[in-house]
Amino acid sequence: MPHAAHIAFAKDVAGNIAAASAFFVSQRSEYFCVACDKPLQRVSGARQYPHFVHALKTRCRHSAQQAMRVAAQHVLADARFMRAPAPARLSAPPDASSQNGPAPRSTGLLVNWAVSARDVTVTNVPVDFLASDSQFGQVAVRLVVPGMEAGGTLQLPKDIPVLQVMLPLPEEVHGFADLRQALLHDVANKSWLVAPQDALDAAVESSDREEAAAGTAAETDAPAMGEQERPWHRAMSFADSAVYRQLAPAQKLEALERLMGEPCAKWPAEADIDVDNEEVFGVDRRLWQADLLARFVLHATPRSSVSDFSADEALDWLERRYIAAPAFPGAALYATKTYLSALMARGILGYRDSRNAVYTVLRLHTDARESLVWSIRANLSASQLRTLASQLDLHIPVSMVQAILDSFDDGHPVGTVSEFVTTISRLVHATPKQVVALLMDAHLVVEADSNAADASQQSLF
Ligand SMILES: [Zn+2]
Repeated sequence: MPHAAHIAFAKDVAGNIAAASAFFVSQRSEYFCVACDKPLQRVSGARQYPHFVHALKTRCRHSAQQAMRVAAQHVLADARFMRAPAPARLSAPPDASSQNGPAPRSTGLLVNWAVSARDVTVTNVPVDFLASDSQFGQVAVRLVVPGMEAGGTLQLPKDIPVLQVMLPLPEEVHGFADLRQALLHDVANKSWLVAPQDALDAAVESSDREEAAAGTAAETDAPAMGEQERPWHRAMSFADSAVYRQLAPAQKLEALERLMGEPCAKWPAEADIDVDNEEVFGVDRRLWQADLLARFVLHATPRSSVSDFSADEALDWLERRYIAAPAFPGAALYATKTYLSALMARGILGYRDSRNAVYTVLRLHTDARESLVWSIRANLSASQLRTLASQLDLHIPVSMVQAILDSFDDGHPVGTVSEFVTTISRLVHATPKQVVALLMDAHLVVEADSNAADASQQSLF
């Protein structure tokens, strides 16, 4: 039996994974074993690759293997892609015809993802790495570390593709370059334990069973396309939220930063709006607000009905992803609706159907120059308008008075304040400044929250 493999990777105080071979890893810095959390020391010499050893003699099983597994998870999370073999169907479709010749020998396919998580549970099965792939929905990655084979029977998550990666022998891995090659580029060391197509079939089948059990007999002549896609997406989006829900706030933030395409400090002001009962979802408001923006607004097609959504759908999304602790019944819905009202006040959303709280997306962002937003409880009476107009020396034609009153009949006008100011100033032959003064005096608009990324940003966690 050869002596234990050298430990090539360790974590620092911040939880980052460092390789002993990296030039910036100094002797002085503090590094810890990912298996036992005890301090490690870096060792290097003329005759051996740099590596870590436990600072104090300690019994620690599989530390080199564990270190490589954790380093592999980090490589995947950072890279957001990997090459994989072309998935062959394990169970051939019944009507496999002769038109499919032998599978072409290819270099495989590219799996890529925006969001990932490590060490999560999917349908009660622990998974080393889970990626949200654009092509296959979710892909679970099973990392096999030589010398650390798990006992017992292999459990596989249901309904999602599973890709197994055989990692190199720990003694052959001296740094991140070796791991990156094996994880991201090599294909021969990988195999599909559950091929994407088989996972899709399983998802469709279990969804059909659910539907049959629920007694909702779907029309039999539904288009084949719809039959294939609907349950798949439903199953996947549920799995997505089920995984997200398990993440710690810091991991949720990481996932959201990828969805938003920006670090938290650069998120738009509308992802940080003061809302009553904002603590109901148990996280900083920036998390759940960014989550709603990313899900319902940022990728929407403005002014198209495909992007419409209801307050109930928004609440349902949040409740599947956060553990709501309402201080009173309806607190979560109240916070959600208040936030959506704030997005309306900024001209981002409009009502498609106010009675049923159905919203439509008008624009994806507020204009950075937009300094005023609608007051959520905007209200304007005829006498108020008359008084304010005369104070400001504004001569509003009678025909326009009713039009202005009407636009505040059911809350505030649709769209941004500046759009309204531009239109009205043209119609009543006033300067935009005069119209803004009137709106401010009538308390119809308020200053947008000054929302500079300040010290509070640091206190997110
Ligand atoms: Zn250890």
